[in-house]
Amino acid sequence: MTVLQKRVQVGINGAGPAGLFLALLLRREGIESIVLDSRERGAIEETIRAGVLEQWTADLMRELGVGGRMDKEGHFHRGITLQFLGERHHLDFVDLTGGKQVIVYPQHEVLKDLIAELLAQGQDIVFGVKDVQLHDIEAKQPRLTYTRPDGKACEIQCDFIAGCDGFHGPSRQAIPKELRREYQKVYPFGWLGVLVEAPPSYHELIYSNHERGFALLSTRSDTVQRMYIQCDPPHTSKGDDIANYPDERIWDELHARLDTADSTLTEGKIFQKGIIGMRSFVCETMRHGNLFLAGDAAHIVPPTGAKGLNLAVGDVLRLSRALTQFYKSGDAGKLDSYSAEAVRRVWKAERFSWYMTTMLHRNPEESDFEQRIHLADLDYVAHSQAAATALAENYVGLAVDL
Ligand SMILES: Cc1cc2nc3c(=O)[nH]c(=O)nc-3n(C[C@H](O)[C@H](O)[C@H](O)COP(=O)(O)OP(=O)(O)OC[C@H]3O[C@@H](n4cnc5c(N)ncnc54)[C@H](O)[C@@H]3O)c2cc1C
Repeated sequence: MTVLQKRVQVGINGAGPAGLFLALLLRREGIESIVLDSRERGAIEETIRAGVLEQWTADLMRELGVGGRMDKEGHFHRGITLQFLGERHHLDFVDLTGGKQVIVYPQHEVLKDLIAELLAQGQDIVFGVKDVQLHDIEAKQPRLTYTRPDGKACEIQCDFIAGCDGFHGPSRQAIPKELRREYQKVYPFGWLGVLVEAPPSYHELIYSNHERGFALLSTRSDTVQRMYIQCDPPHTSKGDDIANYPDERIWDELHARLDTADSTLTEGKIFQKGIIGMRSFVCETMRHGNLFLAGDAAHIVPPTGAKGLNLAVGDVLRLSRALTQFYKSGDAGKLDSYSAEAVRRVWKAERFSWYMTTMLHRNPEESDFEQRIHLADLDYVAHSQAAATALAENYVGLAVDL
């Protein structure tokens, strides 16, 4: 069988936020790459996931020339609201962080902007590939093999492979098990998320700790809103099923957990619903030989801190700087320190995501004592400038080099 061969400097597996940002960052430095993804372009551009961009991620999009639509269509939020014991408390990030804010602009819109820009610049992106395999990652010239959608077998020879293929992709598994140290926490609850055709009910995100469980009021656009309620985790013996949640039950729960004495949610048509589990996960190392992991391939956070997408972008910004140093001067110093430095930052985002998750949810495995501690924590954040500043600094995003 004929195998189509190609040589590039960097082979990138995965066209999610990590892979696409990396390709664009490398192009800016004149470094050639190819991006592979097992999904079709349409599926990538339609899948609804994260929605909050940290200040520096938005700045990076502008710097890369892909911030135009985000600036026009994104929602700029100067803070968030914490709700507990029936009261709302606004945290003003702009005041607390010296001017920083977050932008609500959905992940799939970011991906559309990145894909359009990359293709306009002539970037090689192959969608719908099958059987991606990583070879010789410890050698000077690692290879990626895969089958194109037309059935042709292909081989990419490269200097480096970037494993940007998410939690279930093959890259992390290519690192020998005995060289990986993996840390994991699975939470005993999940999120039921809905998309609703309705105008915004509030001008910013509301994170609610309620005796019936956590709820999050978020937004997508002027006409579409995103709302979540805590439920039992999927895929477990007592796992929740979407069939248990007719629309009336969802609205009952949302109203119970998010309404206040003087404010009620605006209802609308629920046109999408689904349940996700909640997990924290870190793989140490993020490098083996000439394979570098980035994004969900190396770590997962529960979505409460809105960190997953931003963390993936932080990894590839660091990786692009390391590759640029290598190609411009032959110095492999930043490549050698990539894993240790990326992991250090990852743990801070893991801590923050765990903290937000623990403080805001009703954990059926915890005692009343612990629930009271979480309420005390919320009270502290709501009334102490120091505590609020710490939360704000993490939410708007820690510096990439911190
Ligand atoms: C259902 C869901 C909801 C989420 N909600 C939020 C949220 O509200 N807030 C938040 O901050 N984060 C959220 N996240 C997390 C956030 O979306 C991720 O952290 C982010 O997508 C990570 O980007 P990535 O590029 O590392 O990985 P991914 O976005 O997972 O991209 C990996 C890419 O690799 C491709 N791939 C996988 N396997 C292969 C293979 N074998 N061969 C070739 N390609 C492959 C995939 O098709 C995919 O396009 C959510 C995640 C999920 C799954």
